[in-house]
Amino acid sequence: MNSIPDKQRAYFNLNYTKPVEFRIQQLKKLRDLLKSNERLLYDAIYADFRKSGFDTYLTEFAVPNNELDIAISHLKRWAKIKRVRTDMVNFPGSSYIIPEPLGVCLVIGAWNYPINLSLTPLISAIAAGNTVILKPSEMTVHTSAALAHIINDHFDPAFLTVVEGGIDETTALLENQFDKIFFTGSASVGKIVYQAAAKHLTPVTLELGGKSPAIIEKDANLNMAARRLVWAKFLNAGQTCVAPDYILVHQSVEKELLEKLKLEIQHSDYSLLNGNYVQIINEKNLDRLKGLVDEGTIYLGGQTDKEQRTMSPTVLSNVLPTDRIMKEEIFGPVLPVISYDDLNSAINFIKSKSKPLSLYLFTHNDVIRKKILSEISFGGGAVNDAVMHFSNSRLPFGGVGNSGMGSYHGKAGFDCFSHFKSIYQKPNWFELNLKYYPHTKRKLKLIKFVMSLK
Ligand code: NAD
Repeated sequence: MNSIPDKQRAYFNLNYTKPVEFRIQQLKKLRDLLKSNERLLYDAIYADFRKSGFDTYLTEFAVPNNELDIAISHLKRWAKIKRVRTDMVNFPGSSYIIPEPLGVCLVIGAWNYPINLSLTPLISAIAAGNTVILKPSEMTVHTSAALAHIINDHFDPAFLTVVEGGIDETTALLENQFDKIFFTGSASVGKIVYQAAAKHLTPVTLELGGKSPAIIEKDANLNMAARRLVWAKFLNAGQTCVAPDYILVHQSVEKELLEKLKLEIQHSDYSLLNGNYVQIINEKNLDRLKGLVDEGTIYLGGQTDKEQRTMSPTVLSNVLPTDRIMKEEIFGPVLPVISYDDLNSAINFIKSKSKPLSLYLFTHNDVIRKKILSEISFGGGAVNDAVMHFSNSRLPFGGVGNSGMGSYHGKAGFDCFSHFKSIYQKPNWFELNLKYYPHTKRKLKLIKFVMSLK
């Protein structure tokens, strides 16, 4: 396994990945492979989660398919040399920026959306002209094996390969020198990856998690808020990095919101049989989630089924900010609802925690919208919706602080795997001799004058 980075470096140094035509060809090949192996991948996701075809398309294929189409059609423009103005002090001359691939990239995926979170960064890395080693999560054994089968059977490993495995394999991989590491996962493992990267001064993008709040102001459309929040929270049984982790609701509408959440959950009739629910990834996580509902009041749900590995959509009321459930990312189908009477106290509560990956605000009040968006730092989010910002490739996706660093999707993904090489090019027919010896007062005065010309 440890010879792969060297083989990829040798391949990269032969410049095979640099022509835009090569990159487009590889992306088209990947698109064809995804199409022809669709059944295999859908079955793998079903084996790992019992997820329906509808949700598999929505959560695993929609974004990578879109990213492939966008990269294939925009790549020529993204990869173009960009000319910029030359300042007076450098006249005559020209200035331009060359986007260049970083080199050998390692992409480490998370288990919760194993196709989407592996392929989306992979597509950006290929588009930018890199070689890639993909290490999907070992927790989703079937999907990891399917990805390895599809990719390793069809691509030269010196260009693109999947390495399967868990902590040991990832630790071994991380000892190698990479030109970029793209990691999706928890903050605690993010720190391990960051430390390993620091040894080689390798740039990293860390896509981490955290507790993403949803704020419901008193003027919010509660029917719509409940509808959108219930979908966003219980999609993938809450195992979504951008899921609303908890709700902060103005106390004047708390009771009404709880009723609407209940109606919406009952209406959605979540079950594995209906195909609108999925399993908890493993028994350990099911037990962890069970342990989280022993504080607060179970307003709805709370049932677990060990055999099916499921937990019913659960809403908790009377939750205190000091409860255990408010101290860790839930990453499961439990939705605590906390009320506030003063918006500033809600803002201060969010600010007292690590910067969230997402924030969702439900209001029609422009003053409140501007206040929240300017006063709280978070990765990204939505106003009067939840989760859907992830699907717009024109919105760079990523966290801030504890929820991550760097962003991707669309052009931001291309940028994330590129270096922008700045060049100043000068002709030989003119030389302003000001900077050369002898240094006189007059020359200094002239330099200051030229520098002031913009
Ligand atoms: P994780 O950190 O346990 O694992 C992620 C990857 O790291 C896996 O491939 C795993 O094999 C590897 N890994 C685990 N332990 C390691 C170690 N000690 N050394 C080296 N590698 C190791 O995360 P997870 O459980 O797969 O995912 C859940 C977390 O990921 C949640 O916090 C969630 O919010 C976050 N997440 C973030 C995003 C995002 O886009 N920001 C997306 C999905 C999940």
